[in-house]
Amino acid sequence: MMEDCWGRAKAELRKAVGENNFAHWIEPLDFKGVDEGVARFGVPTTFMGDWVSRNFGDSILQHLNASGAPAGRLAFAVAPRAAVAAPTTARERAEPVRAASDDQDLPGAPLDPRFTFDSFVVGKPNELAHAAARRVGEGGEVTFNPLFLYGGVGLGKTHLMHAIAHELQARQPHLRVVYLSAEQFMYRFIQALRERQMMDFKQLFRSVDVLMVDDVQFIAGKESTQEEFFHTFNALVDQNKQIIISADRAPGEIKELEERIKSRLQCGLVVDLHPTDYELRLGILQQKVQQYRRQYPDLVIADGVLEFLAHRISNNVRVLEGALMRLFAFASLVGREITMDLAQDCLADILRASDRKVTIEEIQRKVSEHYNIRLSDILGPKRVRTIARPRQVAMYLAKQLTSRSLPEIGRRFGGRDHTTVMHGVRRIEELKTIDNQIAEDVELLRRALEA
Ligand code: ADP
Ligand code: MG
Repeated sequence: MMEDCWGRAKAELRKAVGENNFAHWIEPLDFKGVDEGVARFGVPTTFMGDWVSRNFGDSILQHLNASGAPAGRLAFAVAPRAAVAAPTTARERAEPVRAASDDQDLPGAPLDPRFTFDSFVVGKPNELAHAAARRVGEGGEVTFNPLFLYGGVGLGKTHLMHAIAHELQARQPHLRVVYLSAEQFMYRFIQALRERQMMDFKQLFRSVDVLMVDDVQFIAGKESTQEEFFHTFNALVDQNKQIIISADRAPGEIKELEERIKSRLQCGLVVDLHPTDYELRLGILQQKVQQYRRQYPDLVIADGVLEFLAHRISNNVRVLEGALMRLFAFASLVGREITMDLAQDCLADILRASDRKVTIEEIQRKVSEHYNIRLSDILGPKRVRTIARPRQVAMYLAKQLTSRSLPEIGRRFGGRDHTTVMHGVRRIEELKTIDNQIAEDVELLRRALEA
């Protein structure tokens, strides 16, 4: 009976979390039943329990409840292998002989199941990095070694590396793919030194098929770690094993990194992730909304909110995602549609921090240039359409692109009342939907102002 509930919940979860996540994280769960409101599961490792709980806990509870198993909490206990019912991960399905203990010997860090190629939005700023990552993920002949990805914080380096690892593991489950941060590499190295297990350490790292080291700038200035990294690196390259490295800057610009390492790192393919642009940010937001909707179909977002966020929030995708998650959380808490006002309220701090500092004066100047009218006319009292319309466009942009209030904007437009500004803003909002020319003008101006 409870088993049936879990069966139904699983069917829903499969849709909610996607095939990949489902196979990795949900399928291997051994449902034991619900008692006193606690749904109990057996899991092969503690890590897996933690991960599932953190990332899928809410979904699991929701679907269990929906399918008639009243649970308020989840509990995961490590079950002995034999007790785990189904075949577990994709890797084990493909190669059942591989012992679990063998897996645990791999020195890598866990992969985030959400960081796949499917969930990576491609735009101009990251298309090269994405193409290179895809190629490596295909796992064909090693053509560039290493693949070196670099770029600022939150631009998707880690996401791409995990995506490569997922892809490789799906295509070639026998490959020993190891992902870890440079910091973890150092930590393991020091531990090996301390415990006099350098031979094991060397052997382990030299036996992997694909090695990924994230944020390699971390080992700059750390001499013996660099030394060991260099040897590991060379040993793997000599065996024609793929290496993937990331850093926050180009190899040549990492200070206190040995020259010979820099030149080694430059030998393969070096690609950078550029700061995001408006289109990419909007694409990412739209994708997140789509994902979220799969779980919460009731979500309503007013027109223009995503565009507003894409314009106003900085390059860092992590910040962008954080803002959106906060909006989702808030909207679901108060059961309200996500409107522009809600967004502005709820994200005031983030918006302020990444304010682009477009000024009202700049907006007025650009708009008057664009429509070929005088700046003084925008500020003055004339009401003819050829002037009034551009003025409204400028007001609209001032509202959208700055954090000024309506009365403040009114004051800067020759001392107009805030209701006049509000009327202007609304008018442009309407016109944008029915008049392509206006929509285009606004878009052009907006881009010019934010460039
Ligand atoms: P980095 O390692 O470069 O600092 P991450 O890979 O950790 O950045 O990315 C930060 C967050 O932004 C992650 O949640 C990631 O999924 C998301 N992200 C970054 N770029 C993209 C993209 N192009 N498409 C979808 N999500 C992205
Ligand atoms: Mg990272």
